[in-house]
Amino acid sequence: MAKELNFKQELVGCYGFPVAENPTQAMIEPAFRDMGLDWRYLTLEVKPDDLPAAVAGARAFGFRGFNCTIPHKVAVIEHLDGLGESAELMGAVNCVVNRDGSLIGENTDGKGFVSSFREISDPSGKSMVLLGAGGASRAIGVEMALAGVRRITLVNRSEDRGRELEALFSGKLNEAAGGQLEIDYVPWTGDFSVPEGTDIVVNATSIGLFPDAEARVPLDIETLRPEMVVADVIPNPPETRLVRDARTKGCRVIDGLGMLVAQGVIGIEYWTGRSPNPAVMRSGLEEVFGD
Ligand code: NDP
Repeated sequence: MAKELNFKQELVGCYGFPVAENPTQAMIEPAFRDMGLDWRYLTLEVKPDDLPAAVAGARAFGFRGFNCTIPHKVAVIEHLDGLGESAELMGAVNCVVNRDGSLIGENTDGKGFVSSFREISDPSGKSMVLLGAGGASRAIGVEMALAGVRRITLVNRSEDRGRELEALFSGKLNEAAGGQLEIDYVPWTGDFSVPEGTDIVVNATSIGLFPDAEARVPLDIETLRPEMVVADVIPNPPETRLVRDARTKGCRVIDGLGMLVAQGVIGIEYWTGRSPNPAVMRSGLEEVFGD
């Protein structure tokens, strides 16, 4: 019997500007191959003015979904048909999913963080220091609170941004998390001393990102205790100075590559309904981040 031929691949991708250095394709396409799926992940440069046409294009081409990165995470919302709970709380979307023809905005950054954290410990009832108040911090704070974290100490250099996030966390987020959340904001001056009783310390700033790989997060590392989990969002290089320092203090560590892979896993699950192999995805990224 003749073999059935099908040259029509399923499409997903990433909209960003600039986007050429975004490595997501290097972890998603190997995962598709490993799953036996004839899908493509396209890295697409979309200028801000072209975003409405690009979303219309995704509908016209029948994309199964797409990631959004800088500068589209907020702007895309008005072009979508609905939002998931955490994307709604954050006011930002990084993963759009085509559900029966409706484009629904989700946010997988914080979900990826929670899933890498759960491999080590249970977030429930924990006390977390969150360094930074940008998009990554917002995503991690929202999902960790929804996953049961009890206390968040938010530390940020610019007070305006810190206070804005503090207001979101102690308002809408606290309500969604059942009213049990305790929030502090601490302006970041000098080396931050991690308070006694902290369970989790997260660097959600961009300090340490390539090419400033040796940049130091202003933190008194003598205040890190072996029972703490220390996480760094920086994916490149994954072995940041903070990651190294935390290991020497005996802490359990989550690196930024773990979080990046975990959010990619959730994206693939949303798009395909199947679970990919995270090890294949991590080695795809390690290949491109390698020396
Ligand atoms: P934003 O630009 O939104 O926020 C950056 C944050 O870092 C701000 O709070 C800023 O403070 C702080 N910051 C930057 N430089 C310094 C400094 N020298 N001293 C003190 N604070 C500083 O970025 P995002 O939140 O979107 O991204 C942050 C990092 O997270 C990026 O490196 C990105 O690569 C990474 N990321 C990783 C993901 C993963 O899956 N691993 C997912 C998403 C992001 P201020 O407000 O004072 O300027």
